[in-house]
Amino acid sequence: MKDRLLRFPRIPLIHLPTPMRKLENLTKELGGPEIWIKRDDLTGVAFGGNKSRKLEYILPDMLAQKADTVVTWAALQSNWAMHTAAAAARYGIKPVLILYKRYDLPIEPDGNMLLDRLLGADLRIREPLGPGSAHTEDYLAVAEEVAAELRAQGRRPYVVSVGGARVIGTMTQPLGSLAYVQAFIETLEQTRAFGFEPEYVVHSTGSGSTQAGLIVGAKGMGAKTRIVGISVSDEKKPFMKDVIEISRAAEDALGTGRIVSEDDVIVLDEYIREGYGIVSREVTDAIRLVFTREGIVLDPVYTAKAFVGLIDLIRKDFFQPTDKLVFIHTGGTPALFPNRFKLAEFLPD
Ligand SMILES: *Cc1c(COP(=O)(O)O)cnc(C)c1O
Repeated sequence: MKDRLLRFPRIPLIHLPTPMRKLENLTKELGGPEIWIKRDDLTGVAFGGNKSRKLEYILPDMLAQKADTVVTWAALQSNWAMHTAAAAARYGIKPVLILYKRYDLPIEPDGNMLLDRLLGADLRIREPLGPGSAHTEDYLAVAEEVAAELRAQGRRPYVVSVGGARVIGTMTQPLGSLAYVQAFIETLEQTRAFGFEPEYVVHSTGSGSTQAGLIVGAKGMGAKTRIVGISVSDEKKPFMKDVIEISRAAEDALGTGRIVSEDDVIVLDEYIREGYGIVSREVTDAIRLVFTREGIVLDPVYTAKAFVGLIDLIRKDFFQPTDKLVFIHTGGTPALFPNRFKLAEFLPD
């Protein structure tokens, strides 16, 4: 698998490997499987996160196509949009970000929006196109319109989908998910050095491309590891279709043949609760638990929701007590600050 990945150019944007350690206190306290954490929140670009790992594979394609502008879309406080802007700016590519007001946060210079502004990104703030997922063709069509306008001004835009996930727009290979094939191999090398192969990897899933990459990595390496994606946005059914679609594209890109079956895709959607980005008491409690017991800060939109799921799965005996699992911290911590008042509502006096 490593050789197959080497065919895809990678620009070293982040610190690799990201750190891994056992969560000693939480393993004891939750009384289930051994819980390890992989710190993809410590990638070293801005405040870190999975998007910077994906951009290591996407940026070379922008440069190969001689793009001078990148056009993408996402939610207002998007980690993907901010990391795209940071990576692009570093290589002299102008970021144009179409940001949709997906949940009711004020438009203020805070969190990722502040970082976008500090990076000098061109922000186009829009109303969402509908209640559904932002991974659809309508959103691509808006980005293509913006790209056409930029082309008319003599620029060379590169259009990439939200999360660097789907093979649409200018990106013709599933480059974002290939980064997570590599991340799985990295995880396996780390756990093997600690003397084990994890039964499970648990992570927050939004567009499906991190999950698809991890699954292709696990299957391609012949590992027994099952990948559990805890959805923060979309329901299981359409989501599984996206994960399969991206996995197929990754299999084709790597030339592995068909190695992923539908049974390999575990998506849990019951922890979306009130909806994408909605902060609740259980989310706040999960942030407090992990921060006080382990000194690690989770974010309210993605990783805390995934942790709520993990705690519930442990309570429901989804895992064997002898299992070892790796929770991937995918980043997102800038979202704490624009959500400060909502989080504070759930704090004890
Ligand atoms: C985008 C994101 C995810 C989900 O990654 P996908 O590849 O889109 O599924 C998880 N956590 C954080 C913090 C993110 O920003």
